[in-house]
Amino acid sequence: MFWDKDTETLDRNSLHNLQLQLLRKSVEQAGKSPCYGKMFRSEGISPEKIKSLDDIRRIPFITKDTLRENYPYGFLAVPKEKIVRMHSSSGTTGRATVIFHTAQDINEWAGLVARCMYMAGVREHDIFQNMMGYGLFTGGLGFHYGAEKLGAMVIPSGAGNSRRQIMLMQEFDTTVIHIIPSYALHLIETFREVGVDPRKDLKLKIAFIGAEPHTEETRLRIEAAYGVKAYNSYGLSEMNGPGVAFECQQQSGLHVWEDSYIVEVVDPKTLEPVQDGQEGEAVFTSLKREGMPLLRYRTRDIVYRYPDPCPCGRTHRRISRIKGRTDDMLIVKGVNMFPIQIEKTLMAIPEVGTNFLILLDTVDDNDFMTVRVEVSAEMFRGDMKGLEKLRKMMADELRSELLVTPRVELVEPDTLPKTEGKAVRVIDNRKQWG
Ligand code: AMP
Ligand code: ZN
Repeated sequence: MFWDKDTETLDRNSLHNLQLQLLRKSVEQAGKSPCYGKMFRSEGISPEKIKSLDDIRRIPFITKDTLRENYPYGFLAVPKEKIVRMHSSSGTTGRATVIFHTAQDINEWAGLVARCMYMAGVREHDIFQNMMGYGLFTGGLGFHYGAEKLGAMVIPSGAGNSRRQIMLMQEFDTTVIHIIPSYALHLIETFREVGVDPRKDLKLKIAFIGAEPHTEETRLRIEAAYGVKAYNSYGLSEMNGPGVAFECQQQSGLHVWEDSYIVEVVDPKTLEPVQDGQEGEAVFTSLKREGMPLLRYRTRDIVYRYPDPCPCGRTHRRISRIKGRTDDMLIVKGVNMFPIQIEKTLMAIPEVGTNFLILLDTVDDNDFMTVRVEVSAEMFRGDMKGLEKLRKMMADELRSELLVTPRVELVEPDTLPKTEGKAVRVIDNRKQWG
């Protein structure tokens, strides 16, 4: 049974007590690793010093750089022979970091993913097609074991090979999919090409979308095209992978499983906590990991915490969808912006297709921004006036969202490069000064 009512609806007080106990244990376990051992000795940290949850602030933050500096085994807290698996982060920002799991870690992780899937409505009779990369990336195997634990039938189709994906959905009556949102958008094109309407011709009910930032507009497009409810799934390899925070059927914020993680939201500059409702960087502490516990890991992901309890009855706090990472922020002509703002604007325009790309160049010593957008094939059939009108409208909408006017280029479907994994939305060719 994966509706763990007692845990998921535990009153806040008891949840805090549970977290405190688990935090002490996690500090004890982490202290067995070379890095934490050294750090705790020099900072005078021990489980006994953690008297309240606020004492978590005695523990120094760690970042991806800390993990890189201690690559690969610096944070290993068990003898190597207890490790049964390793994974790594996607490595979009430099050398990937590696994470090790014991058999118990894998089991706990699968339990969390099963809990998330159950929450969204997946049951034993479901056919689950896992369209995420299998391998070092946690999205594939993470969901695979969760779905098997829940008892659904798993089709481990992996990423890419769009036509085969569609064939599998048709032949095996897939009801639930797990897919990267940018790939879910691409696949809409392939459905059109092969003449399959997912709403009528397939049995899909639920999609799990995650692994990269996406907007509500993208979710609505996926829901409309596939005829599913799409749930936002958040995780990071440093905290296992998927299963860290997940939407319930309210689709309004992601419950962080606080019996397994502590989430703090801090100002990325001052590192002081921000208030609920205010944006900041999410910082996670694992409470149950045995092989490689990580405490106060700075994710660089920008979120805010919901102040109010969820109508679904679960007491675990919710975070917002991820706006992007602190290092995704672009500064164009002195104005700060996130790629997701461009996605939000574009996806709300019906003529926009399923892909876009942001190009940044230096022209005459100034930043120059181009947004290249795929639009529907019909737009290229009529006279060019319609296209020009659309282009102008997009430029206006983008200017009012970004406060910078990009050059907009409209291109036919299937022109821009596709990725099977996380989308690459920005190509920055600007001169580096200094
Ligand atoms: P990885 O390095 O492969 O473990 O990827 C983890 C990172 O992917 C997170 O820190 C986020 O930046 C991003 N990510 C994962 N899930 C989501 C999601 N649902 N929404 C936005 N970003 C996500
Ligand atoms: Zn809820």
